[in-house]
Amino acid sequence: MLQKSRNGKGRSVLVAGGAGFVGSHLCDALLSRGDRVLCVDSFITGSVTNVQPLANHPQFRLIEADICDLRSIDEPVDQIYNLACAASPPQYQADPVHTMMTCVAGTGNLLALAEYHNASFLQASTSEVYGDPAEHPQREDYRGNVSCTGPRACYDEGKRAAEALCFDLVRAGRVDARVARIFNTYGPRMQPHDGRIISNLLVQAITGKPLTIYGSGQQTRSFCFVSDLVAGLMALMNVTPNPQGPVNLGNPGEFTINQLAEMVHAMVPTAARIAYHPLPQDDPQRRRPDISKAKDLLGWEPRVPLAEGLRQTAAWFIATLGTQPVSGKRRAPPSARTRRSNVSIGV
Ligand code: NAD
Repeated sequence: MLQKSRNGKGRSVLVAGGAGFVGSHLCDALLSRGDRVLCVDSFITGSVTNVQPLANHPQFRLIEADICDLRSIDEPVDQIYNLACAASPPQYQADPVHTMMTCVAGTGNLLALAEYHNASFLQASTSEVYGDPAEHPQREDYRGNVSCTGPRACYDEGKRAAEALCFDLVRAGRVDARVARIFNTYGPRMQPHDGRIISNLLVQAITGKPLTIYGSGQQTRSFCFVSDLVAGLMALMNVTPNPQGPVNLGNPGEFTINQLAEMVHAMVPTAARIAYHPLPQDDPQRRRPDISKAKDLLGWEPRVPLAEGLRQTAAWFIATLGTQPVSGKRRAPPSARTRRSNVSIGV
């Protein structure tokens, strides 16, 4: 049932990072539920194109601002989602100090706004807080194995500090804050060149370039389709009582990067061979969420299988890049290490 805000209409919801990949899907979902959405974004990694279709929506408003500088907003809000932070390694490492400040100072500013407006708050944290995990799958009570000095620390440690801020304010009874630990998420509106594994492989396949795999390809990841994640974020924001601890949101299906590349190769007829490159520093070997807590507390679990989500994402990239996959004869298999599956993109 639609929860009403203090003025009796749909809720007023601030989405920081609302012009990004996940944030723009969240804005869509909130608007279709009848909420009013105030999207705050600096466009450092997001794109106005993501929210362009909402420009004339009477319940949507866009403010260009950096959350590190945001001290006030000129209207009351009932809920604040903080998704503002570059999420792909090349992007968050491009200006690591700004990434850290976004996580700490920016989150601090938004928490202050939440306290002032008595708004509920949801922090988009990450599975990166588990680092290169020594426990598998990762449960919320696992404390992680993170380097505080490496090139990923600006993000991993920044997100850990942001969690600490949230729970300090929860313990003090000052903000109703919730923390989602998000695992790899993919779907339409990912940026083609953001350096994430699914966008990398799909764009390379669609443009006929070699599919890049870092390391042996035996490292694993779990991939959640964006509509599933958005449903989880909204469920976590609205559940009562406050879970008072982090909640993993992700798809527990675990795939090696080689398996993912095989699926992409089989799905996109223009896919070329696979090229192996050295593994970057601090790249985790295994990732898979334990989502028991989300299932128990929120009644949430992902619904979209990887093959279906990949198909939708590939179709979106093909439309966006203006490239049609070549039909007809496929090239030779990319490498001895890959096998074909029978997935068909159907676009
Ligand atoms: P994204 O880069 O597409 O979106 C982030 C958005 O935040 C962008 O629109 C960007 O312009 C904006 N932003 C960044 N810094 C800002 C700042 N200082 N002030 C205002 N706006 C700022 O990334 P995404 O994949 O949509 O991720 C959204 C959130 O979810 C991030 O916080 C990320 O850490 C978290 N997350 C995402 C994933 C994933 O797989 N997509 C996984 C774990 C966590």
